[in-house]
Amino acid sequence: MANCKKCNYSYPPKELTDGYCIDCEPSEIKQKRKEEEQKKQIINQKQREDKILQDKLLLEKYNSIILTTEMSIKEDIERIELISSECIYGLNIVKDFFTGIRDIVGGNIKSLEKSLKDAKGKVMDDFRRQAFELHGDAVIAIKIEHTYNNTGGGSIMSIFATGTVIKFSPPSTSPEVECIN
Ligand SMILES: [Zn+2]
Repeated sequence: MANCKKCNYSYPPKELTDGYCIDCEPSEIKQKRKEEEQKKQIINQKQREDKILQDKLLLEKYNSIILTTEMSIKEDIERIELISSECIYGLNIVKDFFTGIRDIVGGNIKSLEKSLKDAKGKVMDDFRRQAFELHGDAVIAIKIEHTYNNTGGGSIMSIFATGTVIKFSPPSTSPEVECIN
């Protein structure tokens, strides 16, 4: 605790400005304090805006990551890492698909297709996330395999995918040309 220079009451030190409590502080100190507070608010606002902008740029970068089965999409690339992802689904419909052929009127095929699509989506989301964390620009040469296994308790569908995270090399800077008139 510290005492106010004027009224001599004790206050926690951070409540005193230049030794005065808020009630006793001379007007020029009050003014100075207000300006400091305003400055702090402006800085906080700026930091919040910077953070929002940064998040926006990161999201744009995340969404711009290319996912492709192509082996090469550009000449100048830098290989970063081989990645893989796996998604396992427990399925009844796979079993139904093989055993209840009579009942297949598109419904089962649709739900199987939907599960496959979901699983692929998950694997691709995972690829995008991994590429982003590795600061890559694309995942190329993606290979997807799916397998179905009938077990005692049901059927399992698994999707396994591999791909190569790459980075586009920055364009080579051309030498500066000076114009001579
Ligand atoms: Zn005081």
